[in-house]
Amino acid sequence: MGRILGIDLGTTNSLVAMVDSGIPLVLADAEGQRLTPSVVHIPSDGSPPVVGRRASHVRLLKPAETVYSIKRFIGRRASEITPEERAVNYLLRGEGAGPVTVEIAGRAWTPEEISAEILKKLKRDAEAALGETVTRAVITVPAYFNDAQRNATKKAGELAGLIVERIINEPTAAALAYGLNRLKENSRIAVYDLGGGTFDLSILELREGVFQVLATNGNTRLGGDDIDARITQFLSRQILNSGGPDAQSDPLLIARVREAAEDAKIRLSRETDVEISLPFLAPTFSFNYKLTRARLEDLSRDIIQRTRAHCLRSLADARVEPKDLDQVILVGGQTRMPLVRQLVSEWFDCAEFEETRGNVRLGAEYHRDKGPQLNTSQNPDEAVALGAAIQAEILSGGLQNVLLLDVAPLSLGIETFGGLMNVIIPRNSTIPVKAGEMFTTAVDNQRSVLIHVLQGERERAKDNWSLGKFTLDFDPAPKGVPRVGVQFEIDANGILHVLARDTNTGQQKIVEMKSAVDVDDAAVQQMVEESVEHAFEDMAARQWIEARWRAQETVAATRKGLAQYSGELEAPIQEQIERALKAVEELLSHESGNAKQLKQAHAALDEATKPLADLMMDRAMEALLKKRGIIQ
Ligand code: AMP
Repeated sequence: MGRILGIDLGTTNSLVAMVDSGIPLVLADAEGQRLTPSVVHIPSDGSPPVVGRRASHVRLLKPAETVYSIKRFIGRRASEITPEERAVNYLLRGEGAGPVTVEIAGRAWTPEEISAEILKKLKRDAEAALGETVTRAVITVPAYFNDAQRNATKKAGELAGLIVERIINEPTAAALAYGLNRLKENSRIAVYDLGGGTFDLSILELREGVFQVLATNGNTRLGGDDIDARITQFLSRQILNSGGPDAQSDPLLIARVREAAEDAKIRLSRETDVEISLPFLAPTFSFNYKLTRARLEDLSRDIIQRTRAHCLRSLADARVEPKDLDQVILVGGQTRMPLVRQLVSEWFDCAEFEETRGNVRLGAEYHRDKGPQLNTSQNPDEAVALGAAIQAEILSGGLQNVLLLDVAPLSLGIETFGGLMNVIIPRNSTIPVKAGEMFTTAVDNQRSVLIHVLQGERERAKDNWSLGKFTLDFDPAPKGVPRVGVQFEIDANGILHVLARDTNTGQQKIVEMKSAVDVDDAAVQQMVEESVEHAFEDMAARQWIEARWRAQETVAATRKGLAQYSGELEAPIQEQIERALKAVEELLSHESGNAKQLKQAHAALDEATKPLADLMMDRAMEALLKKRGIIQ
């Protein structure tokens, strides 16, 4: 079967790792580096793409032929890309619901194709290091990647000639890297992962060799890049103020300033001030500036603070408090920044925390009752790739007794009567997971049902995201007779398969939800927050829709009964029914309303129709007895 590689396909850097004789190792690339920049240079002369360090050098000279941070766009629709994103990544193309593409020398590249170029290099370099062909891989993605993003990542792997055995979440992979021999048997950990472009906070539980993600929350558009952009803006202003050119309006200049900004940021993790030098920004202008760590912290504090809400949300979802955690693991290059470590340590009430030249040393006497331990023992750049390699080894049978469980980040369900969301797989369910429900028709002689698959936390279908729609046909039958079983399955890669089956005929359809979701992670967060914010209003809407549905059924049945038996009812009774009917119909004529009021009116109608119901029952009984020849 051959080896399975563990690949961390990162926004900024990518790594490939494997387990050799039980030890997880990162493999160096052809340039002898363990981190391969996720940068792809596509020469306009048609020569083959250049990936990694060489591409990142070219990026400054040929920005229009060099793509970076492509992970931010994979699996997203063009309409989801914000104007700011387009402004920064001016190579982006695509309209409306179509995919985003990157245009280079007149050719449109999909993010999958660009990512495939990175994966091809990782595969090639790993093969060179191992001296054998490798075709199988485990690839990591941020926990918040949805179906479309996971599928696109898988497709990138396939385009690179890899069989993608598993897509796993980055924080889970990181926990695996720490978890195998470091954590005690039963422990709870938080993985704080701040990389170049994405942030995730996951709470995991390790119990008897089983990892389970209790909750995860994050933002696929928050990371070190934002800090770089902030410093770049700041430096550009300083350049202008000191009589230099307007860097913001010149792609070549801005690329230089940005590189200097990131470089300064990284150095400031170790030093307290650094000299930035940008010679000849204009023929007669060179720029020199001393940036202090304090200034960097001022510039970036609010960006780091934005991760806090995600931490709190994740803790709340997992129903744990910081004191219940054993460890807080830091992952992602940006967590090397002392301010990140300090703030995370404060938010999680971490045990003794000492800072020495930017490195955090864990307090010598660590006591459990002092709060969780801030664990920086792994190289934050490598933990994810090493975890992927461990998962690969588990899959190839090399490691046993470790099982990996992830969770579904948002609820999945279908639209049911009245436009309500019917949840089939609740948010934070452990995956892989399978769940189903039986549905029937609401109208006589219905020939098909529309299965509208939704993702989200809101009560009304329209407030959730539509993942896709399909119809299941069946033979006409009276309402309530057809039985349609709908089953949702999220596989180990987090991809959703929906099956709908007419249980009377066995006719069925299985649809893999490949279609793009509104992928934007900030929107995921917003979805969760809105569901809390609108909880009362949503619940009222659900109650109204349900009450309305029932009332409509009663009104229809009453009208039918009246049409048939009105001659046999006493006038006052008939009038009372009419009055009660009118009251209900008046309420039903409005799109929304007070469910309680409607229920009261409905109850009054039920009461008023009792004589009619009795009459209908008597007539039905007579008809039956006659049919059986018991009476004449
Ligand atoms: P990752 O996506 O995990 O590779 O993280 C990359 C991000 O980490 C980039 O924004 C880098 O600028 C940032 N980074 C890497 N090393 C450091 C460092 N020593 N101090 C601060 N940020 C760093």
